Amino acid sequence: MMGRALVVGGGFAGVAAAVQLHARGIGVTLIDANAALGGRARSDDFGGATIDVGAQLIAMSFEKTVALLKGGAAGGNVGLGSGRSEKGAFLRATPGRDVFVHGNARYPIQFGSMTSLLRFGGLGAVEKLRLGAHIVPLLARHRGRLTADALQVDGTIDRESARTHMTAHVGERAADALVEPAFNAFYAARGSEMSFAFYLTLARYGSDAGMLTAPGGWSAALAGAAKGVECVLGTQITSLSLRPDAGVVARTDDGREWAGDGAVIATDPASAANLLTQSYGANNPMSNWLAALRLRPTWTLAIATDVVLKHDAFGIMRHPADAKEVSACAILGAKLGPEAPPDSDVVLAWPTPDAAERLRGEPSDAIVAAMMPEVELLMPQVKDHITRARLYRFDPGNPIAAPGFLADRAHGRKLAEALPFPITLAGDYLAMPLIEGAVASGEAAGRRLAEKVLSR
Ligand SMILES: Cc1cc2nc3c(=O)[nH]c(=O)nc-3n(C[C@H](O)[C@H](O)[C@H](O)COP(=O)(O)OP(=O)(O)OC[C@H]3O[C@@H](n4cnc5c(N)ncnc54)[C@H](O)[C@@H]3O)c2cc1C
Repeated sequence: MMGRALVVGGGFAGVAAAVQLHARGIGVTLIDANAALGGRARSDDFGGATIDVGAQLIAMSFEKTVALLKGGAAGGNVGLGSGRSEKGAFLRATPGRDVFVHGNARYPIQFGSMTSLLRFGGLGAVEKLRLGAHIVPLLARHRGRLTADALQVDGTIDRESARTHMTAHVGERAADALVEPAFNAFYAARGSEMSFAFYLTLARYGSDAGMLTAPGGWSAALAGAAKGVECVLGTQITSLSLRPDAGVVARTDDGREWAGDGAVIATDPASAANLLTQSYGANNPMSNWLAALRLRPTWTLAIATDVVLKHDAFGIMRHPADAKEVSACAILGAKLGPEAPPDSDVVLAWPTPDAAERLRGEPSDAIVAAMMPEVELLMPQVKDHITRARLYRFDPGNPIAAPGFLADRAHGRKLAEALPFPITLAGDYLAMPLIEGAVASGEAAGRRLAEKVLSR
């Protein structure tokens, strides 16, 4: 091995960085506070089933993510399942069908699919015409530059919010049905808070191809990708300091430490700012930039049932005017298909942006009690069949990609690239806040650090 690197944080960004370093012959120790790899996309054993507690699906066109998981899996002797039920495949196509619920009406939809949009009952003919006349050509024009690394996206589409743009050019109903659901559910954010550039990027990936899931969960898929990397889990790094001779040392509060020639900090922005400050002092421009980033904490409520739930879709997305506490639910059985447990199921539920802000300081019991009536309203079958419920909290949460975020993230990347050796940064907050954005950022950080470690 030619040197040793530390990676602090084992989400998709940290694992992607570790894989880049390892591939260049550098020994890697990756340390994460959680018991499993994956961060906001980690898995857990819940009620006898493996569930992904945060991010659920990736697009087939997440090329970097698929290559990362495929590369690792090749070493682990499993492959990309082209079919829908090949045993042992590490990634599997999933129908990714949703249903949009407004009042008592349920409208099937596959977000991103044009054919599905044309059939979608939640919009009128005029809105569909306007979508075809305005959004579709815009998507076609920008498609090639709408990449998750956020390197080439045209700043002109980053000046207004997704809701403002959709309302002005297509109408309110389209903003409620096509903009709000994904932002409300997965980011606990409102369409009025998120940039149209990010919205169009989601649309690009959603419309490029189908969706994929990891049947064994993201954590197992990442463990396959990180083969050869020493992973230290359940370990919070509280100090990262420069060694007087050269290199870095990471420490825990209970006195354990790891030394390396360099380090990638792939944590959330607040932890990154804290660790950086210890090495480069308070008030360094990178820490100041990190401290100013806006994030929204959110959570997933997981509910296990002792029956298999009937389903016509994976996601049940709600009209924002109907949703007080719960913006969306999803059914594990619909995602896993033939590999779903035969006699039980899991419902996942996400708060509305209002509920995420209002309830975040409350104890888990109070949040479960607040959300449960709306879960039962959407999924009456769960009544009398609940065996357990658990809240998975994501603090500090997802970055808000507000209008203007592209220029801000470009500035953050510049600061990260300019950080003096031996420390660099990775995370989805430096790109598009998606798994593919995290991987792009991690790969760039891994390459950057490897070059410096190898040229010493
Ligand atoms: C509910 C939800 C749904 C989502 N849905 C999707 C989706 O469907 N598709 C999609 O592409 N994206 C989705 N996302 C976004 C996606 O999860 C993120 O963009 C991506 O996982 C971020 O990866 P990351 O490595 O940058 O950060 P994280 O996953 O946040 O990883 C940071 C890691 O650092 C660790 N850490 C922090 N501090 C320390 C420390 N001091 N010491 C050691 N370890 C530390 C944490 O434990 C964590 O594992 C969703 C997010 C949420 C919350």
